[in-house]
Amino acid sequence: MRWGTITYAVELELSETVADLKDRLFELTEVRPHRQKVLGLPAAAGRPPRDDIVLSTLPLKFEQRLIMVGSREQDYSAVHDAISAAAAAAAGTVVNDLDFDYSVDDPAAGARVVKDLSAYRRRLERRIETTEIRIMNPLREGKKLLVLDLDYTLFDCRSSAATIADLGRPGLHSFLASAYRYYDIVIWSQTSWRWLEAKLTGLNMVFSDQFKIAFVLDRTSMFSVTSRRGRDERTHEVKALEIIWRKFPQRWNAQNTIHIDDISRNFALNPQSGLKIHPFRNAPVSRATDRELPKLDRYLTLIATLEPDFTKLKHKHWKHYCTRHIPEWDSLFGNGAGSSNR
Ligand code: MG
Repeated sequence: MRWGTITYAVELELSETVADLKDRLFELTEVRPHRQKVLGLPAAAGRPPRDDIVLSTLPLKFEQRLIMVGSREQDYSAVHDAISAAAAAAAGTVVNDLDFDYSVDDPAAGARVVKDLSAYRRRLERRIETTEIRIMNPLREGKKLLVLDLDYTLFDCRSSAATIADLGRPGLHSFLASAYRYYDIVIWSQTSWRWLEAKLTGLNMVFSDQFKIAFVLDRTSMFSVTSRRGRDERTHEVKALEIIWRKFPQRWNAQNTIHIDDISRNFALNPQSGLKIHPFRNAPVSRATDRELPKLDRYLTLIATLEPDFTKLKHKHWKHYCTRHIPEWDSLFGNGAGSSNR
């Protein structure tokens, strides 16, 4: 089990439970069980293992690798109260499933704007306070920031299949491996931690030799804003990149950050940094034709190599950008070689 930079060997009997595992981790790290997030435990009957699950019922390997994230009590007290407030606020949110377009370049053509900036400012500050960044893998100097949505961006969360891995978007792992050369990767999903850890584990995204996830944010780091177009108003939650930027001011900002999501309202507060990707649904069928990730891989590589300032880009036109920069691509990575030859 790895916690931060330290690796612990933990021995357990198969008759023990997940709660016993967490007690053992508490003895080693002083991180209380309810603060621990354990990544890498296989799902039990398609669900994330609960604390009372007996280890023998999980398809564990003889030597199972795990990552634990979480902070000790003394690191934590400052944010404790604020987290309950955040959860209470999220519970009252109206979530509208219909997306609407956030376009930066053409507001007159019907793009929405966020109403009442001063009201969301307070929420933003509160969320910056309550968000605890649990680093899973060390950040690297000079890397740009890639924030990725999970559901329908990297996998189809609704279809059924033998394993979650079967629902991954085509090219998922090579996309992440390629992006990892230029970007530190953050997953931000509007879901709870328990599901998030099960999904990442099921998609084999936790222990890869070719890419590492820097950290993960869940729904508790989102908050609601009201958007309007004309007289039509909607309340919805957003992923405010400023939360990350303020935590790492020397490292990341709008100039070196890109956020990819299938729902554009998620980047309502940072429309310029957002790239709306076509959602990956109905995996059993669309798996045969979906090529969004290999294309996006090329775009991310090109802009990381050619663009010192992402605020100059209009991500909406990303496919066109790739077409226009075929000569640069060929001179950088070999004529016609494509991503497979890099
Ligand atoms: Mg999504």
